[in-house]
Amino acid sequence: MRIYLDVCDVCHDPGRLAKIYTVSVDDRSGETCRCEEHGSELEFIISQAESESKEEESAPVRPTRAARGRPLKVTTIEAFEAEKKTTKSPPARKARGSRAR
Ligand SMILES: [Zn+2]
Repeated sequence: MRIYLDVCDVCHDPGRLAKIYTVSVDDRSGETCRCEEHGSELEFIISQAESESKEEESAPVRPTRAARGRPLKVTTIEAFEAEKKTTKSPPARKARGSRAR
């Protein structure tokens, strides 16, 4: 009977559940088997990378939502025309009307 066990590369303790981590730098990569204790640093790096990727995914969503509110008011032709009419036409009519009458 054969039993294959993944044991930690550091403590070699068969009683500890070990996970295989793939480490890579530039074009080189290697695998290391670590238990929970000796893989804590690698787990920390992974958790950091996960939180960063989550921030990257949610980051573009927030600005677009905030940006949508602002451009809509400016881009809306009706609002833009209404602003033009309210600011330009009343004084022009008053000036012309007062002079003509
Ligand atoms: Zn270990």
